[in-house]
Amino acid sequence: MKKTKMVCTLGPATSKYEEIVKLLKAGMNVARLNMSHGDLDWHQQTLDNVKRARNDLGVPCAIMVDTCGPELRIGTFKDSKVCLVKNHEFVFSTREVEGDENIVNCPYPSLLKILTKNQKIFANNGLLEFVIKEVTNTDIICKVVVGGEISNHKSIFIPRVRLPLPFISQKDEKNIEFAAKNDVEYISASFVNRPEDVIEMRECIKKYGGRQEIISKIESLEGINKLDSIINVSDGIMVARGDMGTEVAIEHIPQIQKDMIQKCIEYSKKVIVATEMLESMTYKRRPTRAETTDVSQAIYDKAGATMLSGETASGSYPFESAITMTKIALATEKVVNYDNDFAVSYKNLHKNLEVIAYSSCATARAIGAKAIVCFTDQGKTAEKISKFRPKAPIVAITHDIFTYNKLALAWGVIPVLARKQNSIKEILDFSNDIVKAIKVCKENDDIVITLGLPLDEVVHTNTIKVCNVK
Ligand code: PGA
Ligand code: MN
Repeated sequence: MKKTKMVCTLGPATSKYEEIVKLLKAGMNVARLNMSHGDLDWHQQTLDNVKRARNDLGVPCAIMVDTCGPELRIGTFKDSKVCLVKNHEFVFSTREVEGDENIVNCPYPSLLKILTKNQKIFANNGLLEFVIKEVTNTDIICKVVVGGEISNHKSIFIPRVRLPLPFISQKDEKNIEFAAKNDVEYISASFVNRPEDVIEMRECIKKYGGRQEIISKIESLEGINKLDSIINVSDGIMVARGDMGTEVAIEHIPQIQKDMIQKCIEYSKKVIVATEMLESMTYKRRPTRAETTDVSQAIYDKAGATMLSGETASGSYPFESAITMTKIALATEKVVNYDNDFAVSYKNLHKNLEVIAYSSCATARAIGAKAIVCFTDQGKTAEKISKFRPKAPIVAITHDIFTYNKLALAWGVIPVLARKQNSIKEILDFSNDIVKAIKVCKENDDIVITLGLPLDEVVHTNTIKVCNVK
């Protein structure tokens, strides 16, 4: 089983029950619903299919609802789309105009105050480019720098400008309510710029009675600059290289990615590397050599997870993409010497739980244990052990189904759902049997078990036991 987890974005190519079963078999650990596409009915059906598939296969799989985030959208065109020509004038107007080759509605009056001459505007993921010539009381008058097709309600993007929009739009609030109502495990928050954004989102989740963990998508310069304080209040980070690549010079992205991964490991937060990992597989059966190395590189750096977007959502080879990513993960993990250097040193450990987590990894390393077994209610112990990126798989036993599916995203963790064990004997017997049943150990292998004693009190994990599998 691979240690690095895989997030697959679901879309028209992968929304049916049978398709999701195939993705689970190909190694999907997290199903991502991108709320920028599709309506709530579609998402509800797809989500129900994921729940049914993970249940039928008896495997953990987290569900992640990805918000739209603050974004600017244009109005409509007379003929629903137009083709813009280089060097022509084009106007984004706050007036309620019907769009054509010369003008389109852009209903954000506050933009007029912050935009100035010579600023750039992009559309269609950066394919169309405009430069501002003049801003009037109602209009942003531009010159088309790179032309092309643009259609109704497309989003536009202005690099390095803090949008005069609330972080949580009405549509996002509906999507958060949807996530809370369906008790999904994760919300990935688009365009997190500041720690306050995460706090606002957490309050909104609470308002709808949810308990979702928040993965902050870092995709702006401001987000990069405030990374530490954002990590601090988030449950994880997504290195959202797509939009990030339009805000920062492309040559800096590899370094930013490495820094983000290392920081998240140190803070014991989840970290997902996203976008274009196997992009060419959207339309080809085999990836480029460079893409293969990109996936592998994230795994060498011990990223918690890698992600597929369009490849699985709408590509021609969604299952091949997932299988390929899994194969690259397995091949790379085989050659990384995880126990040589733990991802985090024993220095600067804080809190007893972290020391126990470190010690269980160090013990497993010293005796060549084939598994580290832990018992966890909310997943904290498993996540702390995961932080050190040990060689031995982390078998996380929990009675809580939410924790079970949530831990599908935790690096190196194999979640197991089981009723609460009531005595030490039961714990030892269960550990002995489960590591054989899930085929991480055979007879005579050593394992390390961590638990919290006494069993009848609410305590943190505080005990390490070494056992020989019978
Ligand atoms: P998106 O986010 O796929 O929702 O745009 C990821 C990214 O920008 O890389
Ligand atoms: Mn994005």
